[in-house]
Amino acid sequence: MLDKTGVPTDSLVRSRFPDTSFLVKPKAILECYEDISCNPCATNCPFKAITIADGLNSQPVLNPELCTGCGICIYSCPGLAISVVQIVEDKARFKIPYEFLPIPNSGEVWSGLNRTGERICDASIINVTDSKRQDKTVVVTVDVDKKYLYEFITIKVQK
Ligand code: SF4
Ligand code: SF4
Repeated sequence: MLDKTGVPTDSLVRSRFPDTSFLVKPKAILECYEDISCNPCATNCPFKAITIADGLNSQPVLNPELCTGCGICIYSCPGLAISVVQIVEDKARFKIPYEFLPIPNSGEVWSGLNRTGERICDASIINVTDSKRQDKTVVVTVDVDKKYLYEFITIKVQK
């Protein structure tokens, strides 16, 4: 399915999530599904939580025991393939990369989209960061209902 549509299957998506017992704390989700020559996620992680088997050409693997959820890998990834997620009561709290305009503001409610671009839920904007070190990759903290943990991928402004 990934080859034909660019959309990963549900089982492939789930394979990138650590066991939900880890998600009481924020953990990185590495949705990098191709063997490409790339490694800034691994080299920029200050906790050595990401490894790439041959150093460059394999898909990155997260050690959830080492990941602190700091979010540096989110804006280090040129493919915008990394998010961070934590379960907070009945919500899944994501930190996602965002490079479109307009930039959301805290307190707004946007649409939550799935991997095929369909609206699936409300997405409450919790925080937005755009520091110099992020190099124009805005990181948006957003809450969605936790039943969308494996479906939610990004946000779109509500018209
Ligand atoms: S969130 Fe922080 S600790 Fe976890 S993998 Fe990314 S850079 Fe490393
Ligand atoms: S930086 Fe992004 S695209 Fe590159 S290997 Fe890491 S997750 Fe994949």
